[in-house]
Amino acid sequence: MGKAYMGKILNVDLSSGSIDEEIIPDEVYRNVTSGIGLAALLLYQRIPRDADPLGPDNVLAFMSGLLTGTGTWFSGRWMVAGKSPLTGGWGDANCGGTFSPAIKRCGYDGIFIRGISPKPVYLCIIDGKVEIKDASHLWGTDAIEAEKLITAEHAAPRVRVAVIGPAAEKKSLITGISNDHGRYAARSGLGAVMGSKNLKAVALAGKAKVVVDNLDKVKALNASFKKWLKKGPNIISSGGLSFIGRFMRVSPIAMAQSGDLVKMAMSRFGTISSNVLSSENGDSPIKNWRGAGFRDFPISSHANNLNPQRIIDHEIKKYHCYNCPLGCGSILRVDEANLKETHKPEYETCCAFGALQLNNDMNSIYRLNEFCNRAGFDTISAGATIAFAMECYEQGILTKEDTGGLDLSWGNSEAALALLDKMSRREGIGDILADGTRKAAERIGKGSEHFAIHAGGQELPMHDSRYDPGFAVSYSLEPTPGRHTNHGYQWTEMFALHRIFKKLPKTAGLSTVKSKYKNTKDKNMLLSTASKYMQFINGAGVCLFGVQMGGKLDVPAYTNAATGWSLSPEEYLKIGERIQNIRQSFNVKHGIVPRHDFSLPDRACGNPPLEAGPMRGIKLDIKSLQDDFLSSMDWDVNTGAPTKVKLNDLGLDYIANEIYK
Ligand code: SF4
Repeated sequence: MGKAYMGKILNVDLSSGSIDEEIIPDEVYRNVTSGIGLAALLLYQRIPRDADPLGPDNVLAFMSGLLTGTGTWFSGRWMVAGKSPLTGGWGDANCGGTFSPAIKRCGYDGIFIRGISPKPVYLCIIDGKVEIKDASHLWGTDAIEAEKLITAEHAAPRVRVAVIGPAAEKKSLITGISNDHGRYAARSGLGAVMGSKNLKAVALAGKAKVVVDNLDKVKALNASFKKWLKKGPNIISSGGLSFIGRFMRVSPIAMAQSGDLVKMAMSRFGTISSNVLSSENGDSPIKNWRGAGFRDFPISSHANNLNPQRIIDHEIKKYHCYNCPLGCGSILRVDEANLKETHKPEYETCCAFGALQLNNDMNSIYRLNEFCNRAGFDTISAGATIAFAMECYEQGILTKEDTGGLDLSWGNSEAALALLDKMSRREGIGDILADGTRKAAERIGKGSEHFAIHAGGQELPMHDSRYDPGFAVSYSLEPTPGRHTNHGYQWTEMFALHRIFKKLPKTAGLSTVKSKYKNTKDKNMLLSTASKYMQFINGAGVCLFGVQMGGKLDVPAYTNAATGWSLSPEEYLKIGERIQNIRQSFNVKHGIVPRHDFSLPDRACGNPPLEAGPMRGIKLDIKSLQDDFLSSMDWDVNTGAPTKVKLNDLGLDYIANEIYK
């Protein structure tokens, strides 16, 4: 065992029942860290090319981060990875809560599960004893209730549970995996993979300790960060966010989004701060991407329930992920007949079930979010799929006869809830929609594919690529398409990576609106650096929001302190680049041509341009955006695949030899 990492993983085969520990050599951690890096390295090798994502050859990896358990702020993220049934390529998802340290307390950096159990089971690792236990009594139970039942079955304190809901049991391709009573590793459809394995849950408790090389240094870095975090009054308000968003929309002068703004907005409101900011400035897609921003849907009015202040007025408890100094989550008390307490929904959820469906009723969003958390749906994909169905209904492609009597008019949140219920049970129209927009359009036909807003099968998140073309690049070229958590121009402003990588250009604090999001050599360099850096961050198990604090969280310095390595920031960036190239190579190995197979829908590129609203007249030059990004990643501009030269340069000769044989 090295410093920071545990040095071993657990392999479980649910078909044969075999369980074995595997020692991971130290040099592997030096090459790819842990977390998503270790998962990518091993799953590239272990999942065969033709593996059915819902078959026994797919391997589902539950990963902790390299820095989890070292005391590093924001280092409590866990990740799940495998072949995605949504895209047919690399799939991963990332979540906070308390499951990540539980993996390490069991003595592992990751748990790798292959095969299919003949009956429902859950994997249980308590104080060193590994068991595959019967889960027949839990099958069909919602994710939040199942977690409570599993916790109650074990006397050991601090049992942490990753669990799926009934929709994932039915292999809905837009489902994720829950922990901490409804917090989700949502994307890539990996809940369906867990369901396909008849694996209801993974329950963990242990007492293993993480060894840290220089704890004093970690503490000093923490103290310095916390001093900045607590410095100055938090002057942000709903009205202030609304004003900033409006200023960004109407002023010819544009300002960068700073780490200080992220600090104040996230501390006070969490991600719902974007409910007003993004709807004002044009970042929120509206009505299944037929519009953008407030002119199409007046979301930021104070009379509107989606206003973040009105949401946190319901707050009864704030919560933090493991070892987070900020704490962006909270529990709300709400006034709904069958719902008293619920998680504060994220911005992505508010927009996917709000503006995207023209739904202005926050109370309905509490219920829709709670339903997704229990059934197991990814709220982005579920919201986008319902918006797709509403547009099909408006166009007469779906009728009341098709929907089982549901009136899917825009904004009908009761119908949205009823539709979610049908999707979770695969009943009638629910069966057609349960696998997301791409599959639904294939099943429905009649031109409905024009309303399916996805990249490579994954529904697009709630940041409009017409507003921020950096997201157009991310959605269409990242190894997990349709993802907003890797990079966008906005993110590069918040990352302020020049503070860590001294040779990088700074993002301009002020610019003109016209030039702000124009593709330039510098911006492109920042995008590709962010793309690589985020993989190092995911290997470390660090939260995206920590990285968005204006470069104040020096993750390379923390990693050196925790591991005893003495690598430069640039060497860590190369590790991130290696991880990114393995992830994209996984796609290539599995028959995907990223540049073609992950292409964006016309609407997301402004084709045709909107005629009104803040994104009026915007049409992206997607070809040159993609050409420039691929060139700066040293990926093939025609296919999006890593080049042989790049793979060899990163020491990935065996991958180069396989995909270029
Ligand atoms: S900022 Fe929020 S999501 Fe990130 S670690 Fe802290 S509580 Fe979790």
